[in-house]
Amino acid sequence: MARRFTEKRLIIASHNSGKVREIGELLDPWSVEVVSAAELNLPEPEETGLTFAANAKLKAHAAALATKLPALADDSGLCVNALDGSPGIYSARWGGPQKDFDVAMARVNAEMGDAADRRAQFVCALALTWPDGHSEIFEGTVDGTLVWPPRGDRGFGYDPMFLGEGDTGTYGEIEPMEKHAKSHRAVAFRKLIDACFPLT
Ligand code: IMP
Repeated sequence: MARRFTEKRLIIASHNSGKVREIGELLDPWSVEVVSAAELNLPEPEETGLTFAANAKLKAHAAALATKLPALADDSGLCVNALDGSPGIYSARWGGPQKDFDVAMARVNAEMGDAADRRAQFVCALALTWPDGHSEIFEGTVDGTLVWPPRGDRGFGYDPMFLGEGDTGTYGEIEPMEKHAKSHRAVAFRKLIDACFPLT
């Protein structure tokens, strides 16, 4: 059985303001005080893992050790079928030092060329790690297709080019609450909540 979260404060081990905002909103119904790694000036560990889960775990572990508090990390990205899963764990790095996702989306589109298969997945791994080193890991995936040109200015990262299966708008166009209800992060989150956050 997964370890339950019973503490009052949780460190969000991320310097990505888009992710911290989404995680804060997803945790809204639980009375947990959420503090981001950026607010505490924690260093960003190098993401040396070869999987989303390994990178989530190393980020959560570093924050939990530094703060002596439980920490939650998200490692996520866009996996494109026609690019054999790239950019995958390198999704943030495709934005370059400026973290410019207009550039990253243009690169994805250019590398896909005229590939007929425009399917892609957003993948999210969440790691909840306690200061004693214990971790619980949860993963979520959503399927979609990539549109060009990008549409909408909501969300972050690759959202404006990702059209979820069955959706009428890209993740850059739909209401944030709609994205929170069904995204890869929401799927992983539901698993985390079911396993680690007691209802009472
Ligand atoms: P990392 O997990 O910090 O290595 O970065 C993940 C990167 O994947 C982000 O910088 C985004 O570019 C991309 N990404 C992850 N989740 C989403 C999402 O929900 N929407 C759009 N892009 C995302």
